Amino acid sequence: RNAANIVDVVADYVSLHRSGANYKGLCPFHNERTPSFIVSPAKNYCHCFGCGKGGDPIGFLKELNNYTYREALVHLANKFHIEIKEVDLSSEEIAERQKRQSFLTLCDFVNKHYQQQIAVESNNATAMARLNALGLHEAVVKLFGLGYADSTPDSLVDMISKAGFSISNANDLGLVAPLANGMGDVINKAIVLPVYNKTGKVTGFAWHSIEADPTSFGTTCRSAIFNPQESVFGLFQANHAISKAKSCFIVDNPFDVMAMHQNGLTNTISPIGEAIDRYIIN
Ligand code: ZN
Repeated sequence: RNAANIVDVVADYVSLHRSGANYKGLCPFHNERTPSFIVSPAKNYCHCFGCGKGGDPIGFLKELNNYTYREALVHLANKFHIEIKEVDLSSEEIAERQKRQSFLTLCDFVNKHYQQQIAVESNNATAMARLNALGLHEAVVKLFGLGYADSTPDSLVDMISKAGFSISNANDLGLVAPLANGMGDVINKAIVLPVYNKTGKVTGFAWHSIEADPTSFGTTCRSAIFNPQESVFGLFQANHAISKAKSCFIVDNPFDVMAMHQNGLTNTISPIGEAIDRYIIN
């Protein structure tokens, strides 16, 4: 708490201006036109005189990002380069944690690979033709971190091996699978949609095959870090808007989420591995 400077923490989300000994900005918790959100470096505290929300660096992050206390601490430790040492973990717990960490690292690598692929001209043309046909604009590619999978000339299997990652982990994550002539890519000729958790880490992927109809999506399999049946698409992008609105739209599929965002309805999410019917509560 002492190492986490409230001004640095808040400035990641709010544009701040100096005002005497304090800083001022537009409140991230309610809509306003004149700033009533005050950040005090001396008290290491922030407060909104409009809606009353705010707090110390931990409280601010919990409120803004719907973080648990632990998630807020981990966020601050990463930001301010503080090492977290956990005590009293069994060897199984340590192994489990290391496995999850190596899965997350691999997902991050794979995500970047697909994002590089969508920047390739021919892939970009194919992906944008499909997205445009659905009324989606270029901006969604960046906002949702979209990628493209095309196994020629560089297959994901080759890229993973070359980078020194474990093919067995990639198999566990459902990214590669044994084919007739060795390991091959599961996702091919498809727009790739990374599924981010609340803290912005990629835990799995959905994809839309260019050859399939516009509402069909595949997902990577259940793993130690991902459950497609329990994950939703767009939560990371919608998180702040959901907090602010205290409500959210649940739509049929990821493309609908993007269309809603594009039209300013940013508190929108969708299921990825299941039909929406499963979420309708009578
Ligand atoms: Zn406020």
